[in-house]
Amino acid sequence: MTLVHNWHLGRRMEYPYFESRPKRQFAAVFNINRCIACQTCTMACKSAWTYNKGQEFMWWNNVETKPYGGYPQSWDVKTLRLIDSDNNVWYTDDKDEKLSPYGVYEGDTIFETAARKNLNQWAVGYVPEDKEWRAPNFGEDVAVSKKQDEFSTLPEHSRWFFYLQRLCNHCTYPGCLAACPRKAIYKRKEDGIVLIDQKRCRGYRKCVEQCPYKKPMYRGLTRISEKCIACYPRIEGKDPLTEGRPMETRCMAACVGQIRLQGFLDDNPKNPVTWLIRHAKVALPLYPQFGTEPNIYYIPPRWAPRSYLKQMFGPGVDEAIDKFMVPSRELLAVMSLFRMTQSIIFEYAIEQGPKVFETVIHGKKFEMFNDTVIGYGEDGKEIVRTTVEEPIHVRDPKHYNSI
Ligand code: SF4
Ligand code: SF4
Ligand code: SF4
Repeated sequence: MTLVHNWHLGRRMEYPYFESRPKRQFAAVFNINRCIACQTCTMACKSAWTYNKGQEFMWWNNVETKPYGGYPQSWDVKTLRLIDSDNNVWYTDDKDEKLSPYGVYEGDTIFETAARKNLNQWAVGYVPEDKEWRAPNFGEDVAVSKKQDEFSTLPEHSRWFFYLQRLCNHCTYPGCLAACPRKAIYKRKEDGIVLIDQKRCRGYRKCVEQCPYKKPMYRGLTRISEKCIACYPRIEGKDPLTEGRPMETRCMAACVGQIRLQGFLDDNPKNPVTWLIRHAKVALPLYPQFGTEPNIYYIPPRWAPRSYLKQMFGPGVDEAIDKFMVPSRELLAVMSLFRMTQSIIFEYAIEQGPKVFETVIHGKKFEMFNDTVIGYGEDGKEIVRTTVEEPIHVRDPKHYNSI
């Protein structure tokens, strides 16, 4: 084991390989508050990558209802038990914006638990049984109900559920990569995408066992494991639609609820993904305590109990929800970029517009300005321009579908 810095945990942790960060890291922000669980993302991935024989139960992208849903069933509860979920203790008095923005995690990660217990493996984990993979939308829309006669009011509803959108997190310290005895799993230096070399893999399922998010999947027909490939041909600009520009993945581009924005986490504060995660701190990692530094970030749902959300997204939940409920002028502008283009936005700029609305939300003044937001591509050229107030397009009366 070596010591590497994990900024989600705000401290160094044990990992089998040296710290080696890509120049820019594949990342995405998902706004849970807007997801309608239409599963368009799920089907977009399925129809692109997992429609073959032996992949019938393989869903690289899935959307599950929390808290009862899960694919595979109860994946998170089972992993939390393995790392002793009572150990989810954070020291939050002394934060450092760069090294420990959420505070310091004082419990053990999946790697540290395996070392502490002297297990003969790099991380704790388990291999789900076949029946746990069979129902990808198990528990759909099942709500938790505290008291049947209670009305629901914000900030927390007494009856609640929410949708959790999931795919491989292309982690900075992947459990799957650490676990593989064949060294068949690698993380690309150019964009941090984590891939399984199909020629090296022998189907030992160590990745299935030690990925805490259960995102590598075993294909019995070929006896080889497979996982989300982050649609890398699109990321490399190989899709003709964007004329060589890096393009967002299938599951992001298809999102009907416009909840997803994908790009790269880098050092540019005007990169929309970097700004939302590192500067606005409105989007948080999923189960940071697992210790893999996952790279899909979530704006938590406003209505779910904070204790549940803090277990899932760490101690940054209150700040993230406060900022989302009464958004700043910049946040509102950046959020207007969600799903406005399929090309990856590398930088944004805001042109100020007039004030169009003001009100008070939870005792705080909120002002809305109709600013214009411009997104630029990798080459610095403008690829999208939109306004905070959604533009209205009037259809030509001669349109064929008009009645
Ligand atoms: S989510 Fe799992 S499969 Fe994906 S990189 Fe992380 S540990 Fe590996
Ligand atoms: S990024 Fe591509 S491969 Fe991965 S879940 Fe989304 S659509 Fe599937
Ligand atoms: S397409 Fe978007 S809105 Fe629909 S389920 Fe997927 S993430 Fe949610």
